[in-house]
Amino acid sequence: CGIIGVLGTHEAAPLMVEALKRLEYRGYDSAGIATVRDGALDRRRAVGKLVNLSDLLVHEPLSGRSGIGHTRWATHGAPSVRNAHPHATAGVAVVHNGIIENFREIRERLAADGIGHETDTDTETVTLLTQRHLDAGLDPEAAVAATLEVVTGAYALLFLFRGEEDLMIAARKGSPLAIGHGEGEMFVGSDAIALAPLTRRITYLEEGDRAVVTRAGATIRDAAGRAVRRAEQRIRTET
Ligand code: GLU
Repeated sequence: CGIIGVLGTHEAAPLMVEALKRLEYRGYDSAGIATVRDGALDRRRAVGKLVNLSDLLVHEPLSGRSGIGHTRWATHGAPSVRNAHPHATAGVAVVHNGIIENFREIRERLAADGIGHETDTDTETVTLLTQRHLDAGLDPEAAVAATLEVVTGAYALLFLFRGEEDLMIAARKGSPLAIGHGEGEMFVGSDAIALAPLTRRITYLEEGDRAVVTRAGATIRDAAGRAVRRAEQRIRTET
């Protein structure tokens, strides 16, 4: 239901938990964060209030300067730790707002090829499909593009990759997503309220856009794959 992403210069987990708190107003049943550190993806997830995630992080800290986070409002699969986002394979972690409409069909196709799901969510299908494209030798951007060619529905998606501490890929179709520009840091959020304490400089993605985000900036392509410029705005949200 809410998304945050951080390519930071300090630990990402506290920033992400703070941003997720600001997204509480949207409602949620579970929450989670993932980071990439020393090349490897790791994650922490908890059901219920964000304080449960914070408590978990006290006992099992998650370090790393690059991460993605999510508050979930379950549409497919009951609220549980297993179904909470981020969903992850060894190579990619994904957070998602919205619904993947053709996930059952893709799920069956993956199953026929011996790739099994561990959760009941529509989102895991995106994760497994992207991992498969990575396994086929595609780089992260091409792997996500190949996934987006297959999935239908409404989504805001944010991807984080193994071995890539300076990369997030975002995609928007039917669910809002904004990029936040910092000083040597970059952020992604499902709305300006999540990003407000991090930066006031925001670029909203338009329908069908996808963005390759690094600390140096964001490259945005439209649905046809053309590089496009989207205006940067200065927001004035009360913090
Ligand atoms: N459809 C996804 C799920 O049920 C995402 C729901 C959301 O937007 O939080 O896990």
